[in-house]
Amino acid sequence: MPALGNTMKKPLSSILEGIAPSITMGITSKVTELRRQGITVYSLGAGEPDFPVHEKAKLASIEAVAGNMSKYGSVEGLIELREEICRKFESENSVSYSTDEIIVTSGAKQGLFTAIQALCSPGDEIIIPVPAWVSYVEMAKAAGAVPVTVNTSKESGFKLSAGQLKAALTPKSKAIIINSPANPTGAVYSAEELKAIAEICIAEGIYIISDEIYEKFLFGSSEHVSIASFSDEAKDITLSVNGFSKAYAMPGWRVGYIGANREVINAISTLQGHCISHTSIVSQYAALAALSLGEGYIQEIVAEYSARRELVLGFLAEHDIWCPEPDGAFYALCDIQKYLEKGGFLTSSEFCEALLAGSQVACIPGEYFFADGYMRISYACSRETLATALSRIGDFIVNL
Ligand code: PMP
Ligand code: GLU
Repeated sequence: MPALGNTMKKPLSSILEGIAPSITMGITSKVTELRRQGITVYSLGAGEPDFPVHEKAKLASIEAVAGNMSKYGSVEGLIELREEICRKFESENSVSYSTDEIIVTSGAKQGLFTAIQALCSPGDEIIIPVPAWVSYVEMAKAAGAVPVTVNTSKESGFKLSAGQLKAALTPKSKAIIINSPANPTGAVYSAEELKAIAEICIAEGIYIISDEIYEKFLFGSSEHVSIASFSDEAKDITLSVNGFSKAYAMPGWRVGYIGANREVINAISTLQGHCISHTSIVSQYAALAALSLGEGYIQEIVAEYSARRELVLGFLAEHDIWCPEPDGAFYALCDIQKYLEKGGFLTSSEFCEALLAGSQVACIPGEYFFADGYMRISYACSRETLATALSRIGDFIVNL
């Protein structure tokens, strides 16, 4: 077959050679495409809350459109929103930020991506405890940094210990990413565990990127603690990352934010100003209204997630599938090794592909989270969808 197009074309950036596309976004697109073809798909794939956006937030966005809020705004985000974010940090996280220590981003994802670009020179190392969310490692690579993954164990509840952190440090260590509550394991670090990590990072002068996007999704007696609240030193090295996609069920509105010291915020702002400028003004007004909803709104939602979690754990116990008991977030990382063997699947990707093709249930293969032999179930969907999907998974594994 003759080569297509101009064969003299130069190759694209070599940075891309090592970067995998996002599997969570990829499976979301696949589910959308199958549904467009008229196929019913039960998605336990992406962590995408099914709740509608609160009326107050919708109304605020409608008012912003009607009021012609259609001009460029400031790179760091609306001042009213940053003021409200400061109040939120103060009252909910016991961290005092001023408005110039806050930047509003296009989702936590772009905030993390830009923050990593701002912190890292080529060759700098970022310590990433794994299993971890699919994008951290790729973000590090995109910045020319070196992702240093550290395996956490079942026994530790998939949490990094101070000893493991010490062992991973090198003169090139620049930052560590801590995600608590964690995607995909549901692990929640205790204050003591976080303090031990923070002390090492303070002594070594390395940054802590604290991804707190699941902070509201806590079960049983687990509590969320912000690393930046420990001391001025801890606050100075910590980037507190958060967003509206999970707690306010607004993933498509693309609003996130970071609290950090001014030097870091200015660096992120410099990059952001040449990239997205700022996230949509209309979305920022919606986010501002969402922040005014108060704790009561979130508590009701978390109660529903708790019921969904019970459904998932009940199903897993019934089928003798192990998963770390999730203390937070809305995922179950299921050990499906024995079903891989039973069905002759070499990877959990193969298993998930067969599950989608044969039973129309979408889940995310564990290997993308550095958890071979596992599969992630997201229970950010209605109980009806969850019940049907779980029963289909049950039939699928019984019939392997
Ligand atoms: N961090 C973690 C751990 C996530 O799972 C996600 C996915 N929502 C994000 C950050 C990014 O969220 P968003 O960009 O929608 O704010
Ligand atoms: N973070 C969610 C997930 O892990 C949403 C998709 C994404 O941003 O990766 O499913």
